[in-house]
Amino acid sequence: MQTYYADVKEVYQELLSLPLDGLGLDFVRGPKNLDALRSHGFPREKILAAGIVDGRGIWKSDLRARLSLMEEILRLSSGDIIIQPSCSLQHLPYTAADEARLPPEIKEWLAFACERLDEVSLLTRYFSGEKDQIQSLVEKNAEMLRQKKANLAVTNPQVRARLSNLKPGDFKRSMTRENRYKAQKDRLPLPLLPATTIGSFPQTAEVRRKRLEYREGKLTEQDYRAFIQREIGEWIRIQEEIGLDVLVHGEFERADMAAYFAEHLEGMVNLQGWVQSYGTRYVQPPVVYGDVFRPNPMTVEWIVYAQGLTEKPIKGMLTGPITILNWSYGRDDIPRRDQAYQIALAIRDEVRELEGAGIKIIQIDEPAIREGLPLKRQEWEDYLEWAIRAFRLASSGVRAETQIHTHMCFSEFGDIIPHIDAMDADVISIEDSKKGGELAKSLHAGAYGGAMGLGVFDVHSPRVPPTEEMEVIPKAVLEKVQRDKIWINPDCGLKTRGRKETLAQLKNMVAAAKHLRETGAGQ
Ligand code: GLN
Ligand code: ZN
Repeated sequence: MQTYYADVKEVYQELLSLPLDGLGLDFVRGPKNLDALRSHGFPREKILAAGIVDGRGIWKSDLRARLSLMEEILRLSSGDIIIQPSCSLQHLPYTAADEARLPPEIKEWLAFACERLDEVSLLTRYFSGEKDQIQSLVEKNAEMLRQKKANLAVTNPQVRARLSNLKPGDFKRSMTRENRYKAQKDRLPLPLLPATTIGSFPQTAEVRRKRLEYREGKLTEQDYRAFIQREIGEWIRIQEEIGLDVLVHGEFERADMAAYFAEHLEGMVNLQGWVQSYGTRYVQPPVVYGDVFRPNPMTVEWIVYAQGLTEKPIKGMLTGPITILNWSYGRDDIPRRDQAYQIALAIRDEVRELEGAGIKIIQIDEPAIREGLPLKRQEWEDYLEWAIRAFRLASSGVRAETQIHTHMCFSEFGDIIPHIDAMDADVISIEDSKKGGELAKSLHAGAYGGAMGLGVFDVHSPRVPPTEEMEVIPKAVLEKVQRDKIWINPDCGLKTRGRKETLAQLKNMVAAAKHLRETGAGQ
C-alpha cells in the first residue's frame, strides 16, 4: 500500500496490522511519519517503501540531508527497504534538461521526473555498497546548494528588509467595510444591481496566434501592442453598447492568469515543461526560485488605456498572491508564508499604482485559495491565517474609497466562510450559478455583511439562458440581502467562450439586471 501527500501517524499501527506485504510512506510531505517509526518501529517481515525525495517539488534534493534521513530510517526498521520518490511523478514535468529558456544556474538546481529518478538510483547505490563512488557526487550537490543560497537572485536583501519591516497596519484597511462602501458609492455613479464581468473576454484563435507570433519574433513589440489595444478598444465599445455598468479591459495580454504575472516578476520564471492538472488539462507552471519583487508595472498600461476609452469605470484586474503561489512550484528553502507575502507586496505595489493612475475599482482574483488547504483539517487554520493575511497585504494599501473586488471559483467554499469574510474585500463574487446562489445565501447567513457579485450564468456552457432564468438567483438572494449590496455578473471569466454566445449571454444578463431594478425585486 502506498500512502502519500501527508503522514499517516494517526493510523500507523492500524496500517501495520493490515495483511500487507509492504507499506509506502511519504517522508517529504509527512515528516511525522518518522515520529511514528521512532515510536513503533517497523516490522521485520514487511517491506518499507521510503519516499525520501520530493515527488511534487522541482528542486534537487539536499543529498546529505536525504542520506542522514535514510540512515535513521534504516536504524529504526529491520526488514527490507525500497527507496522511492515521495509520491507518483505525475506532478513533475518530464526532464529539466529540456528547459531551454531558463538561466543556466537555475536549470542546474532543478530535478523533474527524470532527475528525481537519478536521485533515487544514486541513493540506492549508496546503500548498496557504492558509498565511495557516490561520495563525490554528494559533495558536488552540497557545493551547488551553497551557491544557490548565496545567489543574490535567491536571497535579495531589499526584499528581505521589506518583509521584516511589515507592520500590523499593512494588513488592514483604514475604515470598516461598511463605511468604505458608502465612500465608494459616493464616488462611483452606479445604478442599483450594477452589471459587470469577471475579467476575461473570449481569447479567439487570432489572439492566441498573435501572441505566438510575438513570442517567436515574427511580430514586433509595437505591432503586438497595437493589436492588444485594438482588442481592448473593440471590447470597450461592445461593453458600452451592451450596457454593462463596470467595464474591464478583457485580459487579452494574458495567456494564463498566473504565468502572466510570473513572467513580469523577478524571482519567478515560467517553465516549458508540461504537467497534468485537473485530469485532462495540462499546464506549464511557473516557478518561484528566489525572493520576489516587481521591477516594473505589470498591467497598468493596459488598464489605463482601457479607462482612457470610456467614461464608465474600468475594473482593474489582477491575480492574487495565493493563486499565483498555489499554481506555481514554490521554493523549499523559505516558508510558503514568506513566499506569499513577497508576491503580495508586488501585487500591493501594482494595486497602488493602478489607484494612482485613477482606477477606482480593482479586482484581485483568488480562485485557488481553497486548493492550497492542507489535507488534514487540524492544519487548515495555520494555512488560512497566512493566506488571508497575504490577500490583505496585497489589497490594503489603497484609500477607503478605492473599491477592492475578489473572485473565487473551482471549489466549494461553504466551510471557509469566516475566512472569506476576513479577506475584507469590498465586493466578493464566487462561482455558484450551478448551485442556484446557495453560497451567497450562506455567506449572508454566516453574517458576511459585504457586497456580493452573483454569478447568474454558467460560463462553462455555450448555452444562452433566457433573461428570466438569469433573474432566478438574484430574486432568491434579494429576499435576504440588501439591494445595494448585490452585483450581477457571469459566474467566472469568459476566456474560453466563443464571441457570439458571449454577446448573447451578456445582453440577457444586462436585461435581467435592468428588469430587476425596474420591478424593484427585493424591496
Ligand atoms: N479574471 C479571471 C478571468 O476572468 C478570473 C479567472 C478565474 O476565476 N479562474 O479569466
Ligand atoms: Zn472564476
